[in-house]
Amino acid sequence: MIGTNAAADTVCSRAGCQEHAEWDVNWRNPRIHSIDRVKTWLACDEHRDFLRDYLVARDFPVLVARHGTIVDSVPDVTADAK
Ligand SMILES: [Zn+2]
Repeated sequence: MIGTNAAADTVCSRAGCQEHAEWDVNWRNPRIHSIDRVKTWLACDEHRDFLRDYLVARDFPVLVARHGTIVDSVPDVTADAK
């Protein structure tokens, strides 16, 4: 797939899901990422909790925020900007 369609950037990261992303699931793997490193998955309303739980189950710090929210770092304590 070629990234010429800007809308593709706002589609949920869940495999097979084509829903518009409403949330940013920001996370970090503390074993390989420094504190200022932020990885971001996009999530629709339906898959937000799925993606967050997937990461939490791996003991990764996760911070869920409204899509487009700038997140500089993901704190060690799990937070949810619900
Ligand atoms: Zn989805």
